[in-house]
Amino acid sequence: MHVAVRWFKNTGMENLVLPAPAPVLLPVSGSDGLFPVRRIFCVGRNYAEHAREMGLDPEKKKPFFFNKPVDTAIPSGRTIPFPVATENLHHEAELVVAIGTGGMDIAPEDTATHIWGYAAGNDLTRRDLQAQAKEDRRPWCMAKGFDNSAVIGPLKPATECGDMTRGAIRCHVGDDVRQDGDLSEMIWPTANIISFLSGLVTLQPGDLIMTGTPAGVGQLHAGETCTISIDGLDSATVTLA
Ligand code: MN
Repeated sequence: MHVAVRWFKNTGMENLVLPAPAPVLLPVSGSDGLFPVRRIFCVGRNYAEHAREMGLDPEKKKPFFFNKPVDTAIPSGRTIPFPVATENLHHEAELVVAIGTGGMDIAPEDTATHIWGYAAGNDLTRRDLQAQAKEDRRPWCMAKGFDNSAVIGPLKPATECGDMTRGAIRCHVGDDVRQDGDLSEMIWPTANIISFLSGLVTLQPGDLIMTGTPAGVGQLHAGETCTISIDGLDSATVTLA
């Protein structure tokens, strides 16, 4: 208890009982700027064709969310060890929305002022663990929140982005096009996602929201390079050792 009290009373670092974790910082497109990541929220089943390929009916239920730990985020261009504990690693091409101004109960028409920017992202998924979790009615944490599982391309300020409610979103593995969708196919557009999420938690500056993936998710193998590209944004690439 003594240590805990001192923790709150002191603003200096001298009383930490372990080194404080380094902040997770992601590159900003076209500058030396760094975006400090606070939390990572992800939307499930936000494109009808992907819901169908997962064996589900894309009826208009409310959006649902899961999290990845903040330190699963890695910038584009990394070579990562092939993830452990899976024989079916999948790519998921996603638009990432970066929150610059927090808030709660944000109306859809007011969400634009809360968005700092956008990025291309890859919601890497241990699909075999996810399938088992679904069967057992257990959480997805270990299917979604493993080391290096959130590949995030350079973040681009919203002021430099065009209309991000439409535009091609693609996944390439080597020269193969694996996913080829359009942002306009989202069941829940970005404004609605932010509005709904801000009714569940208080959004904070630095939060990232991965907005779901179009159809065509598939397996990645050791040695492959996977690139997510979205019109108007820098791509997000990862290579599996
Ligand atoms: Mn996803």
